[in-house]
Formats: sequence, structure tokens, C-alpha cells
Amino acid sequence: MPMNELIHNIPLHHLPAGSIEKLIVRTCEPAALPTALAKEKPERVVGVQIVSLDTDSEPLNAWAPGLPVELVMVDPATEFPLLYRHTALLDQHPVRVVIPVQPGFAKAVKTAVALDFPVRLDVGQPDLTLIEELATVLEFYLHQSTVAQPIEYFQGVLLGFYQQEPVALWAVLDENPQWLRYIGDDGTESLYGRLARVAETGLASEAGLGAWIERILAAHGECQSCEFLHHCGGYFKWPCQDYDCTGVKGLFGQLRDAAVELRRDLEAAPTL
Ligand code: SF4
Repeated sequence: MPMNELIHNIPLHHLPAGSIEKLIVRTCEPAALPTALAKEKPERVVGVQIVSLDTDSEPLNAWAPGLPVELVMVDPATEFPLLYRHTALLDQHPVRVVIPVQPGFAKAVKTAVALDFPVRLDVGQPDLTLIEELATVLEFYLHQSTVAQPIEYFQGVLLGFYQQEPVALWAVLDENPQWLRYIGDDGTESLYGRLARVAETGLASEAGLGAWIERILAAHGECQSCEFLHHCGGYFKWPCQDYDCTGVKGLFGQLRDAAVELRRDLEAAPTL
């Protein structure tokens, strides 16, 4: 991929974006977006992130219909009631709520789904307490008939098992380092999220995700022999390589079992 096709996640105050071709613009001031982005070519902007829920998103309701919007939570245990003020965005935009996996995040997930927001979990490297909370959310996702919206990464991994076409978490969670870069508030460019401290990869600019996984992301010995390598891609070994994957492997196993059960149920269902 040519470098100019990279998507840069950039703070609003660093616009105009010069030669950058594709942008995800993040801000805590949604009202400033329409004016600031009026000077950019619309096709360059592939999404916006609202990084504070304690704000008024009403100016975006009728602006740029169809443009994807992410609402990024910081403290899910206290911020989930703020989702109610952003539901009107759903009328004109694909909207997703990014929820960090921190103590108390399950209630935020349930609130988001009840309000019809898809969810992307910012899962980090969960400790045992958070693995238990993740397991309750997975149970909710798999067995509550009221869950009509995707909760990622569960949905992407479940589909990968069901269709027997695994997709690595880097792609499921839209953190593919093949094309995503991050511009910090100070203007410094880095890889995104958990890869931010990776300075030099030695990979060619056109290297695909498969090469990234093989050479960099899943180079840890435990990944090489992991039964979930193709669904994970080494995701949970970042940023700390000594992270104990026992808990996340258990969650992968539950998703695999659910996919097997789903396929068995569908195959046993009478054809009409
Ligand atoms: S679950 Fe852990 S060991 Fe397995 S591929 Fe992912 S990061 Fe590697």
C-alpha cells in the first residue's frame, strides 16, 4: 500500500492536514468540526471521533450524513448515562461507542446496546477481574435475544469461527497497522494504540497485515503455537509481551464453542 493511502487519526487542532490523504479527526468539541472540515476535501475524511461524551453533539446531527462517528468513553463506570444525549446522531450517521475494558464497563456496554449503538471494546490487556467481567458481557452478547447490535471484538471473532475464515483482531477492531497511524496532540506520528511505542519495524511500506503478524505482531513464541493465532494475530501480547493469555484464550474458546453450536443448530433446523 502506498504510504499516501494511510489513514491518520489526527486531532482537530492539527488541521489542515497537508498531504495526508485519509483522515479520522478526533475532538472533544463536535461543534467545531463542520467549520474546520469545510476546508478539507470531503473524501479525505473517513470518520470522526468524539473523545468526550460530556459534550453537545447536536451540531453533527444533520452534518455530513453517512460519515462514521465514534463516541469514545474514558470512564465507562460513570459516563454511560451520557450516551443518552447522543442518540440523535444515529439518525444520520453510523455511530459506534468505544468502551475501555475497565472495572464497571459491562453496564456501559448494556446501556449502549439498549440505545442501539454498536460497541467496540478497547480491551487492553485485561487482568483476571476484567476477564470475569468480559465473560459476563460475552454471556450477555451470546445469549440475550435483545442484543441487536454488534459488540466487537466478540462479533468479528464469532463470525470468523462460524464461517471458518478467521480475521485477526487487528482488523476486527479497526487497529490494522498496515494502514492506521496516530498523530498525537503534540503532532508526533506513531503507530496506533497498543503499538504506539513500536518505533521501527523493518517492514516495507506495502507490507500487508499477514506480514505484520508473521514478522512483528505474533512473533512471540507463545503465539506461534497458539490455537487462536489466526483469530488473534498476537493482539494480546501488546504492549507487554509477558502478558498471561490464559483468560483471553478462555474467551476465544467460548466464542469457538458458540460458533460450533450455532452451526449445529442451523444444520439441524428443518428446511422450509
Ligand atoms: S491469545 Fe495470546 S498467545 Fe494466542 S495469539 Fe493471541 S496474543 Fe498470542
